[in-house]
Amino acid sequence: MAQMEDIRDVIIVGAGPAGLTAAIYTARANLAPLMIEGVEAGGQLMLTTEVENYPGFVDGIMGPELMESMRKQSQRFGTEILTENVTSVDLAERPFKVSTASASHLTNSIIVSTGAKARMLDIPGERELLGHGVSTCATCDGFFFRDQELLVVGGGDSAIEEATFLTKFASKVTVVHRRDSLRASKIMQDRARSNPKIEFLWDTVLTEVTGDGKVTGAKTKNLKTGEEGTIAAGGIFVAIGHIPNTSLFEGKLDLIEGYIRTQPGSTATSVKGVFAAGDVVDYKYRQAITAAGMGCQAAIDAERWLESQHDA
Ligand code: NAP
Repeated sequence: MAQMEDIRDVIIVGAGPAGLTAAIYTARANLAPLMIEGVEAGGQLMLTTEVENYPGFVDGIMGPELMESMRKQSQRFGTEILTENVTSVDLAERPFKVSTASASHLTNSIIVSTGAKARMLDIPGERELLGHGVSTCATCDGFFFRDQELLVVGGGDSAIEEATFLTKFASKVTVVHRRDSLRASKIMQDRARSNPKIEFLWDTVLTEVTGDGKVTGAKTKNLKTGEEGTIAAGGIFVAIGHIPNTSLFEGKLDLIEGYIRTQPGSTATSVKGVFAAGDVVDYKYRQAITAAGMGCQAAIDAERWLESQHDA
C-alpha cells in the first residue's frame, strides 16, 4: 500500500450530481478536494439518455454529457479526481481514513455522495433498452411517452405514484404486480384504483422486455397459473425499489432503511465532520437537481464545520 499523504480538508466519495456539485463548491472555497469517483462514476444519469428537466438546458442534454460537464467544471477549480473505488473508511477518529486498493488518504472531513441504484428486474432486454423505453424514473421520463400505453412494474408506493403520474401523458397505464395485493398505502391505492387510465395485471411478472432499439412490449408470466403471454407497451417503468450505496458505512454512520441519516435541515451525519448528500440520503425526491442542491449544502456545511474547527 502506498505511503499516506498529508491530511486533506475534504474527500468526496462518489461523483454523481451531488458529489460533483460538492466538488465545485469546495474547490471554489479553496479546500482542494479529493474526489474518489469510483470506477462507475457519474451515477444514475450515466444510464439515462435525454435529460430535459435540469434547469439551464433549454433543449435538454444527454445524461452522460451533463455529468462530463460537471466533472470538467469541478476540475477547472482544482478538484483532484481518483477513478478508483473506495474499499474502506475509518471514521473512528480524526483525521478520518479513506482507503482504495492503491492507497489510504487522511482527511478532516468527508462528503458521502455514493448515490443509490434502482433495483432492476434482471430479465433479458431490460438493460439493453434502458433509456430506450425502459425507465426507472417517471418524473424524469414520463413526458416522452405522450399518448402511449405503458407498463409500471411493482406494487409499492413508488409504483403506484409513478403509475398515477404517468396517466398525465399516457393513454393507458398497466401496473404489473407479482402478487394480487398492493404494498402501497391505502390512500395511494384508492387514487390509482379510481383512475380510469390505470389497469392492474395481478400475479404477473415480466420475463423479457421486447423491442429492437426501442421498447415494443414485454413477455409475461402469470405466477399462479403459469400462463405465458405478451403485452404491447411503448414504455416500461421499473418501480421495484432502490438500493442506497451504503455498504461502506454500515455500523459507522446511522442509517435509516439503508439510507444515511442526516440531521434535520443539514447534511451532517451521525459522525461530526462527515456529511452526506444526494440519493444516498434522499429516498423521496431522487432528482439530479435535488442531489446537486444537496451537494452544494454539504460543501457549505463542510466548509463551515472545518472553519469552526480552526477557531476551536
Ligand atoms: P417497496 O415499498 O420496497 O416496494 C417494492 C415493490 O416492488 C413491491 O411491491 C415488491 O413486491 C415489488 N418487487 C420487488 N422486487 C421485485 C421483483 N424482482 N420483481 C417484481 N416485483 C418486485 O419500494 P418503493 O415502492 O420504491 O418504496 C420504497 C419506500 O419509499 C417505501 O417505504 C415507500 O413507502 C416510500 N415511498 C413513499 C412514497 C409516498 O409516500 N409518496 C412514494 C414512493 C415511495 P412485493 O409487494 O411482492 O414485495
